[in-house]
Amino acid sequence: MTIHVIGAGLAGLAAALDLAEAGRPVHLHESSPQAGGRARALPDGTDNGTHALVGANTAALAFLARIGARDGWVEPEPEGLPVLDLADGSARRVALSPLAWGNKALRPAGASWGAVLAMAGMALPGRDRPIAEVMARHPAFHRGFVDPLVIATLNTPSHQASSARLGQVLRRLGGPGATRLYVAEHGLGPDLVQPALAALQRAGGTVRYGARLRRVVQAAGRASALDFGEDAVTLAPGDQVVLATPPWESQRLLTHLAVPTQHAPIVNLHFDRTGPGPVRFIGMLGALCQWVLVRPSGVAVTVSAGDAEAGLGEAELAPRAWSEILRAAAAFRIAGEWPLMTPACRVVKERRATPRHVPGEVLRPARKPLANLALAGDWSWPALPATIDAAVRSGQAAARALLRG
Ligand SMILES: Cc1cc2nc3c(=O)[nH]c(=O)nc-3n(C[C@H](O)[C@H](O)[C@H](O)COP(=O)(O)OP(=O)(O)OC[C@H]3O[C@@H](n4cnc5c(N)ncnc54)[C@H](O)[C@@H]3O)c2cc1C
Repeated sequence: MTIHVIGAGLAGLAAALDLAEAGRPVHLHESSPQAGGRARALPDGTDNGTHALVGANTAALAFLARIGARDGWVEPEPEGLPVLDLADGSARRVALSPLAWGNKALRPAGASWGAVLAMAGMALPGRDRPIAEVMARHPAFHRGFVDPLVIATLNTPSHQASSARLGQVLRRLGGPGATRLYVAEHGLGPDLVQPALAALQRAGGTVRYGARLRRVVQAAGRASALDFGEDAVTLAPGDQVVLATPPWESQRLLTHLAVPTQHAPIVNLHFDRTGPGPVRFIGMLGALCQWVLVRPSGVAVTVSAGDAEAGLGEAELAPRAWSEILRAAAAFRIAGEWPLMTPACRVVKERRATPRHVPGEVLRPARKPLANLALAGDWSWPALPATIDAAVRSGQAAARALLRG
């Protein structure tokens, strides 16, 4: 009754942990040299990219608590997100929750009743269309609030992004604490991936790196063997598989699967600037930098839906981003020294960071496409855009499907 989990991203880790804690022998096979997938620490400890969670990501937060890592996720801006608009130099704090907008000081620009209703309407069933079209009559609110929210949650530009997909996010933001924002205090390695691996190990699961699944051998509607190239695993009658790979790999392995085919990049810049705490998180408008995460160990910039930026090199990106960061640091009096010279910078481009969430029917892949194989992965959870929360939920659903079987 061995279970082989393929892919040690968050979906695979969540599935493996549930199955191991249910008492099954679990082997996790990962093609790369490390776990974490698209939410990983690079070999020098730098995150591949800033990952933020909100209170509405209940599955992700519960997973963190379960692996003993919840305290590592801190709320950098409990007083409202600092936002600097480079178009007019205005610096303000913005509450993520419309319930706090009664306080004018926390209200985003252009938040008229009509504008807020137009946004809220996307949470209701209706025609799925590009968000820029829905918000066309409210350009200030769109630019100052909806567009950054769309880019951060859907990783898709507003003129392409699906209003129905944003609706999935908006519907979850109403609960208490749902809009509180958290980031990993020290990094994705110590605050997410390492604790997940440790929990899996405590539950008896094993992990094998550099093990790329080449082929799922099938017979009579079930997986009969897993071909890893140099070795192969023949599956005994009770053995099961979780396939927790990204969409393109899942389709290569199971050719009949329908998967998202369009993806969008996220570009991250990591500046070698150390300074005192606390952790800060700043939004920028009219800038290359969308979000700036300031940790004592470094400064990270996120450019989601970065189609144009993914084509640029460090020489073009780093000085521009650093000059914007200096303005943000001054505007919000971020503690520590801020050298005028651009510090050493590492650019990380995730070209297929997430699927592009465009209008159209959402894929609903069968959780068990084969009798002894369950699917997981952020892309396979139709109720949410592709995020950590979706990955964890999909992994846990795959585990449930196999345990039921
Ligand atoms: C830069 C960046 C920033 C992001 N920011 C956020 C954020 O702020 N908040 C948020 O919620 N989400 C964010 N996301 C999205 C989030 O990272 C993903 O949704 C999530 O990590 C996906 O997890 P997964 O397990 O489904 O897939 P993956 O992380 O892709 O895991 C799949 C794993 O399978 C392995 N694999 C692939 N093929 C094979 C094979 N043939 N055999 C064995 N192993 C294989 C891969 O190496 C990988 O480790 C971001 C993503 C990126 C790239």
